[in-house]
Amino acid sequence: MRINVTKPYLPNIDKYKSYIDQIYQNEWLTNNGPLAQKLERALEQYLGVKNLLLVTNGTVALNLAYKLLGISGDVITTPFSFVATSSSLMWDGINPIFSDIKANSFNIDPGLIRKKITSKTAAILPVHVFGNPCEVELIQKIADEHNLKVIYDAAHAFGVMYKGKSILEYGDISTLSFHATKLFHTIEGGALIIKDNDLYQKAKRMINFGLDGVNIECLGGNFKMNEFQAAMGLAVLEDIDSILTCRKNLWQFYYDNLQSHYQLQVFSVEASLNYHYFPVVFQAEDDLLKSVNKLNQINIFPRRYFYPSLNKLNFLDKVSQNECPISESLSRRILCLPIYAELESEIQRNIIEVLYG
Ligand SMILES: *Cc1c(COP(=O)(O)O)cnc(C)c1O
Repeated sequence: MRINVTKPYLPNIDKYKSYIDQIYQNEWLTNNGPLAQKLERALEQYLGVKNLLLVTNGTVALNLAYKLLGISGDVITTPFSFVATSSSLMWDGINPIFSDIKANSFNIDPGLIRKKITSKTAAILPVHVFGNPCEVELIQKIADEHNLKVIYDAAHAFGVMYKGKSILEYGDISTLSFHATKLFHTIEGGALIIKDNDLYQKAKRMINFGLDGVNIECLGGNFKMNEFQAAMGLAVLEDIDSILTCRKNLWQFYYDNLQSHYQLQVFSVEASLNYHYFPVVFQAEDDLLKSVNKLNQINIFPRRYFYPSLNKLNFLDKVSQNECPISESLSRRILCLPIYAELESEIQRNIIEVLYG
């Protein structure tokens, strides 16, 4: 059996069916249905946030955030992320301006951001990479000094607490992805956490064609999560504690066995961990490729997250193609190991053995 870097969590089928039965009773399939409303309130409570809005996926959550905040021109972002972080900007005609990361945290380096700011800069778009909180206070200070918006792509940061409160409370907007491969999922799905109450009300209209009742109030689109997605979310959320316990044990076992052999991500001491990913950093790309090859031979398929560094994408405009040496070097040498609730400990031991070389 093929072992991938992650495996979508499937809740007990009867549990899922009990929610599907409710959809059949309600005869309400989409458009802010009762299950979507229930999931929104349940997630706000679980995550400790207000103004959470469910949408179709994590990528359009970013697009909606840009529209809500009126972003155009340039946005300073990290080159070390999943492609959606910067491709969503380009999709909306916004230029990603890449600012390099820190070698230990894997997050955007606030010390380098100021040098990238010009009269065209509209916002900063950092990522809490692998669930590690960015230096949020410093980033906010820079944004305030230059009148910039801050949007966090928090796709990896589900449930992460920072200094005793949710990391999702920082910035003007934080976005989440609930894709099947993520820690918590709704098959496809995503959410925005919106600081400003008026903007949150506007967002509710924008995700449904700008409609307020029957009146067309503003420019909108169609970003709505349907009831079947919400049903999956409610069923997965019931199991979230056991999912996290399984992941925690796996994460800790990797950590204990690999920390003296490999460079590992250094987490903020103020953060709680969510055990979403387990990246290891090799000394050279060649070593990484050799280990990948050996793992593939025993049917184990880790992933090169994130490769390549996004400033190297071939469809970028000239303005975005600046050098980011730390991100480029890390991208070539980093590998994410399989981690998901049902990963068997025997397979995990095999992976560690291969990595011992
Ligand atoms: C998964 C992910 C996204 C995209 O989310 P989708 O729900 O798949 O659209 C965006 N940014 C990051 C950092 C991600 O990991």
